[in-house]
Amino acid sequence: MQAIAVRPGRPNSVHLAELPKPSLAEIPDGRGVLVRVLKVGVDATDREINDALYGNAPPGYDFLVLGHESFGIVEAVGANVKHVKPGDYVTCTVRRPGKSIYDRIGRSDITSEETYYERGINLLHGFLTEYYVEDREFVVKMPVGLKHLHVLAEPMSCAAKAVQQAFEAQKRLQVWDPKLAFVTGAGQIGLLSTLILRLRGLEVFTFARGAAPCLKSEIATGMGATYVSTKEKSLKDVAAKVGKPDLIIEATGSSAIAFEAMEVLGHNGVEVWTSITGGQRRTEVPSDHVNLNWVLGNKLLLGSVNANYRHFEIGIADLALGEVTYPGVLKRILTNPVAGIKNYKEMMRLLVEDKNALKVYVEVADG
Ligand code: BGC
Ligand code: ZN
Repeated sequence: MQAIAVRPGRPNSVHLAELPKPSLAEIPDGRGVLVRVLKVGVDATDREINDALYGNAPPGYDFLVLGHESFGIVEAVGANVKHVKPGDYVTCTVRRPGKSIYDRIGRSDITSEETYYERGINLLHGFLTEYYVEDREFVVKMPVGLKHLHVLAEPMSCAAKAVQQAFEAQKRLQVWDPKLAFVTGAGQIGLLSTLILRLRGLEVFTFARGAAPCLKSEIATGMGATYVSTKEKSLKDVAAKVGKPDLIIEATGSSAIAFEAMEVLGHNGVEVWTSITGGQRRTEVPSDHVNLNWVLGNKLLLGSVNANYRHFEIGIADLALGEVTYPGVLKRILTNPVAGIKNYKEMMRLLVEDKNALKVYVEVADG
């Protein structure tokens, strides 16, 4: 089978690799699911891996197959697989368990081990190939009615986890009834977080650089949020006008903005950091001011990465609710299809160069 791979540690090494077709027999105890890959999305993590800022090859390989946002169709299942059957549409979780207590209770998304195993990212091959085989524990069914949203399931799972963790953590307050949220960044995580918060009834301000009207502003407003271009108004300007938010989801990919946002969070609020910043950027922060306000306001900073099976389920349910609440809006995120694995150069070009490409995904096969 053909696959799109990189040589971790070597910048811009994206290339075509060959892998043998996997078989059900590789997964013991009849727990295997063989999936034919239909579509795979790529994101900033893939870009950073190709920039050699991030990621490692599996042991015994000098390349890493990319792709962690998968959508496919089940081709065959082992005798002990009941939750999916041949012909079902599926997506797949990304991280595989290590040995910590969290890994052992199905929470590898919060592993306490430094080394983590993620398909297409770290130490495990990804999905940008023609078939994969997996243990039933990691294969998540997608309803047929969401087929058109395909690769959004994985980023949605990360947004679902980020919001869910914020609500879990805020149980510390005994009563928390958030009304106002800021979402910084209107990439896929920012927009999907905007959706989740709108579905929970919050007033949402979504911040990004581009001047409105633009695709991102149309999607955000299509979900009933207010879009703010940071070229026109800062976080502080908006907070001065509408109040300090109860919740901030930070998804710009900029560590500077992650810190800047700390200056506008309201009392008892929570800010969730979701950006993966593999670079070496350094920023000056007004540390006394932030420290004082965070202590006096009992504020909480929460990092959130990855997602487990349960977050995929919550995310998929919210994709369905989002689709019927704001019909036709979500699919506008899926801007840039790439025809086939062989067009891997075009995939990377769009990801690196095209600032208007909100979501690049490879159409691996029809189905
Ligand atoms: C992926 C997550 C992963 C994270 C860190 C993100 O792009 O969507 O599943 O945990 O990168 O590697
Ligand atoms: Zn990702």
